Amino acid sequence: PIELVGIRKQFPDGTVAVGDLSLRVPAGELVVLIGPSGCGKSTVLRMVNRLIEPTAGTILLDGEDVTKADPVQLRRRIGYVIQNVGLFPHQTIRANVGTVPRLLGWPRARVRQRSDELLDLVGLDPAKFGRRYPQELSGGQRQRVGVARALAADPVVLLMDEPFSAVDPIVRGRLQEEFLRLQADVRKTIVLVTHDLDEAVRLGDRIAVLSQGGKLEQYDSPADLLGRPTSPFVREFVGADR
Ligand code: ATP
Ligand code: MG
Repeated sequence: PIELVGIRKQFPDGTVAVGDLSLRVPAGELVVLIGPSGCGKSTVLRMVNRLIEPTAGTILLDGEDVTKADPVQLRRRIGYVIQNVGLFPHQTIRANVGTVPRLLGWPRARVRQRSDELLDLVGLDPAKFGRRYPQELSGGQRQRVGVARALAADPVVLLMDEPFSAVDPIVRGRLQEEFLRLQADVRKTIVLVTHDLDEAVRLGDRIAVLSQGGKLEQYDSPADLLGRPTSPFVREFVGADR
């Protein structure tokens, strides 16, 4: 599990992106963070990943305090997928997927084998796509490479920041379906950030609705969130999007 205990992030300019957030993500579940722009969703993921340090509070990964973990070991255990994927443009798709295993010093043959296995898993034929460069792929294909790269070193946790938002609705639907099938197999502990309520309902085992300052408004199953919103904020959020 991932446990956030009273985490706070205040940036040097005074902005309180996250005030005081506590949230438990059970092992093997996919939790969606949803909420208006600027409410602190990306900041939460970046703290879990230690791209930024919390001002206060504790983040536990399988009971271990991430601020005390070795960052390299931590990155190995956490896969991170962002909206524009951030593939290395001058590396082939196969090399992109193998990034983390290579950093970990796996033997070349094993890196290659693992990369091809992952490309297969996300529905990209390695024989066809392995030697291409990112700019020779469609947006949806690039996002799948992003997912493959995040999974390559078999992390226990996957953090996904709007992973499917840069593609058109039809491709997005297809990626969501593939992702659900994949998750049924691999069962990672996942935190996924999205703006899209339909996506949250489709993918989430649970949904956390945040408002400005990272305030947790409600944390429930999709059915309960839609059927029993517990605050005017959530009622409006859920209603306004339908
Ligand atoms: P979006 O849905 O638009 O991606 P978000 O919920 O991911 O929004 P964050 O990126 O977490 O929002 O930002 C939360 C708040 O913190 C925003 O008000 C943002 O302007 C602010 N913020 C983020 N990074 C910094 C920074 N480095 N310095 C100051 N303020 C920041
Ligand atoms: Mg964001």
